[in-house]
Amino acid sequence: MIVILRPNADASAVKRALIEHGQWTVAMDGGFILEAHSSAVDPAALRAIPGVLSVSVAPSAWPRVDAQSPIVDVNGVPIGRDAPPVLMSGPCAIESEARIDHIASKLVAHGVRFLRGGAFKPRTSPYAFQGHGESALGWIRRAADRHAMRVVTEVMSEGEVQLVAEYADLLQIGSRNMSNYALLKAVGRAAKPVMLKRSMSATISEWLQAGEYLLVHGASGVIFCERGVRSWDPTTRNLLDLGAVALLAHAHGLPVIVDPSHATGRRDLVLPLARAALAAGAAGVMIETHDEPGCALSDGPQALRPEDLSALTSYMEKSR
Ligand code: PEP
Ligand code: MN
Repeated sequence: MIVILRPNADASAVKRALIEHGQWTVAMDGGFILEAHSSAVDPAALRAIPGVLSVSVAPSAWPRVDAQSPIVDVNGVPIGRDAPPVLMSGPCAIESEARIDHIASKLVAHGVRFLRGGAFKPRTSPYAFQGHGESALGWIRRAADRHAMRVVTEVMSEGEVQLVAEYADLLQIGSRNMSNYALLKAVGRAAKPVMLKRSMSATISEWLQAGEYLLVHGASGVIFCERGVRSWDPTTRNLLDLGAVALLAHAHGLPVIVDPSHATGRRDLVLPLARAALAAGAAGVMIETHDEPGCALSDGPQALRPEDLSALTSYMEKSR
């Protein structure tokens, strides 16, 4: 925003009033530029400051995201800060029909409403397990249906959108694909709700504009997923940006899911950060679980066992 002063206004007094409103200012000729990390404020409140002539607000680069309802419906399950928090859980990869069904049967007892698992896996190494593909989509769909759960699974390429959309309730865009605009357009055209993971190096503006791509092209709703950004410190796999979660949830009124499993890569930190995420305004959390983490085909070291979620569900019940 740009604040223009009246002639003869007391610029220092206006600056003090802007700071009172949580605004970071850069002086310019005849007024102030308000910096991006200023608190959300109603421009009318700034116009009312004595000495202010006008306040101009730049048009939003993500108008459809701004206009989106704060609650996104995913096949009958509402997701948003004012809806009950949702748990999404399941293995990193869908390994077999029997295993995904077994994991689902345990998760459902802990209040998990979304079964997750990758059929198409984005792996850093081309030699790592890449997922069981189409067969795995049938396995997770049948397991979810048997336990009255919804399916969230990743779609990695434009050519697979139709296929994945037939099986999934919520289409996941992985962090490595947040800026794959051709994929975002194709996924938007499927006209389903989408969970958009933040790229490990994306600014908030880039993330919101990726959400805008999905909505312009027809997505029925976008849920943002914070999964940690790349940092300089290898002690955790990534750096969970809870400031971004609070910003999207509280300042933008958007549904945000937090994935503490990929954010930390450390099983011992997953539950504390899940609680922190909910406190920061997350609409839910996505946690990787496996019945035998030692045998998992991917991400075993960060996987919890389904029964470990009971500590989280009792925390969620208490904080309601
Ligand atoms: C996943 O959730 O399966 C995944 C691969 O996560 P990310 O895209 O955040 O790395
Ligand atoms: Mn994983």
